[in-house]
Amino acid sequence: MTDKLYRYLFDQADVRGELVQLNESYQQMIAGHDYPAPVRQLLGQMLAATSLLTAILKFEGEIAVQIQGDGPLRLMVINGTHQQALRGVARCQDEVPSGTLQEMVGKGHLVITITPKEGERYQGVVGLTEPTLAGCLEQYFAQSEQLRTRLWLHANDQHAAGMLLQEMPASNVDSDVEFEHLEQLTDTVKAEELFDLPAEEVLRRLYHQESVQVFEPGPVVFRCSCSRERSLSAIVTLDPTELQAILAEQDAIEMQCDYCGAQYRFDAIDIAAAQEGQTGGSSAQH
Ligand SMILES: [Zn+2]
Repeated sequence: MTDKLYRYLFDQADVRGELVQLNESYQQMIAGHDYPAPVRQLLGQMLAATSLLTAILKFEGEIAVQIQGDGPLRLMVINGTHQQALRGVARCQDEVPSGTLQEMVGKGHLVITITPKEGERYQGVVGLTEPTLAGCLEQYFAQSEQLRTRLWLHANDQHAAGMLLQEMPASNVDSDVEFEHLEQLTDTVKAEELFDLPAEEVLRRLYHQESVQVFEPGPVVFRCSCSRERSLSAIVTLDPTELQAILAEQDAIEMQCDYCGAQYRFDAIDIAAAQEGQTGGSSAQH
């Protein structure tokens, strides 16, 4: 089963829905990291959530969904593009218990940053007041979009999956009743169904009495945006004297990407060339 995001609309209600099933992208994201099971699974949920959010928040550019706090799980971030290319990483400072979001992350925030290709960067922040990631994201939508939104997020060691329901911006008077009805139907979805059944089958089981229009699904992929050039330009922002001192001790500076594990190695010549490029070249005197 390849990783896909489905979008659908209910004919008789001003409500839209999404369903995402992730397998390969989730496995690629956690490969090479030694995350404890609760961290892996929360990353899986966040990966599914970011895919769902990316489709619902209309933008062309990049999105970052991040939780940060003072607990054992210090930071978790998923970066993505509007084309559903996602990557993610988590940082722990202690043993992370399997429990509520607060037990894992402590006191903290959920931050959503959208960087459009054109136009202003937008950032939304909510406190981690709900016990689940889905609950916190629902809070986010209640505050920022003021649209009724529900999310269902699940992950085990193999699969990550999620669903979303949201009322349409211009919904009618009966929309609360309609929304609650669809919410109750969606609430019956089991994690195993989302992991193991084809999306069409899940939707048929949940909404067999509704008239639903399901759109052609789109692919979701793991892709890291790191590169040798980006890593080198990050290195040359460091203090030149410090760089000289490091290069005097070792013959190269090595960097590993936190997200995908790619390794980059730069020797003194690489760094000098990049520093020259940075200062415009002609003024370099050493
Ligand atoms: Zn990378």
